Amino acid sequence: MKFSETYQQLNIFSQCRKYELPLWQCPQFLFLIMGIFIIAATLTTYAIGTRYIANPQIVILVILAITAILFIISFIITQSFERLAEANRMKTEFISIISHQLRSPLTNLRWAIDLLLSGEVGKIEEKQMEFFTILRENGSRMEELVSDLLIVSRMESEKQLPKKTLFSLEELTKNLIAKAYAFAKSYNVEIKLMTENNLPKIFGDASQVELVVENLLDNAIKYIKKGGVIEIGLSKNDKNIHFKIKDNGVGIPREDQKYIFQKFFRSENARRTQTQGSGLGLYICKAIIEKNGEKMGFKSEEGKGSTFWFTLPIK
Ligand code: ADP
Repeated sequence: MKFSETYQQLNIFSQCRKYELPLWQCPQFLFLIMGIFIIAATLTTYAIGTRYIANPQIVILVILAITAILFIISFIITQSFERLAEANRMKTEFISIISHQLRSPLTNLRWAIDLLLSGEVGKIEEKQMEFFTILRENGSRMEELVSDLLIVSRMESEKQLPKKTLFSLEELTKNLIAKAYAFAKSYNVEIKLMTENNLPKIFGDASQVELVVENLLDNAIKYIKKGGVIEIGLSKNDKNIHFKIKDNGVGIPREDQKYIFQKFFRSENARRTQTQGSGLGLYICKAIIEKNGEKMGFKSEEGKGSTFWFTLPIK
């Protein structure tokens, strides 16, 4: 951690400003006050206890007063945590409502543009076609972002319960490779799949796992910098199936690696290679895998490539 980050974390006033809470409701500030109070109270109790040893009522009264003050402080701390939790819930609900509301106008927009581009409502000039194509591309980019936001808000509000079934990860991966064929070809990318024989089925939510594999495959193609090879491997051990996807793309700079699963994070070199992206894909992938009680990780070297992996349970 950099010195400035450590300083930021120790600076209680700036932390409280960040949460937009008054000082007396800020958990960090209250924690500091409580710490100081506990030390002072311990010393005072010791001093009073030794001086008034013959008069235990005074000692008991002091202890009662200290307990009451500690009780009040912990009550305020609990309340401020409640406020933070409520603010977080409202934020998730807000994102969910906004993404729902944005979805239908965006879909209507896409349909209208598709109709115009099809030429069914009149011939359009070449120059107009160019602008309509830009409109369609940007519209679908917004649709993707909105759908990612919706997935995140559903996951965070735990509204969507997984529908677990037995399914073949190998079949799912093959289908997605076939679906990505045209996209991969446009980047001049070859995709290889290597699987162990007789892989058992896995137990999980197939549509969520599909989202994970699709995201990882999409990233591997996007960040490959024109032309390359993607190797996907499936293997098994006692309890789970191990999925890995290796690319020889731009890789992830070492200093960015700790942020890679954070919401909205996009590394500088990736943004240079690929302007499109929400920075939500990997956050969603990790959350899905961890909800299954499994693990996801990666190793990467800038300029050489990345390998992302995850495990899923066999039932
Ligand atoms: P997005 O791809 O929309 O930016 P993701 O959450 O899928 O969002 O990925 C977050 C960031 O992780 C990317 O912006 C990029 O910096 C990095 N990243 C993910 N996959 C790869 C990859 N295969 N190669 C290099 N960088 C990657």
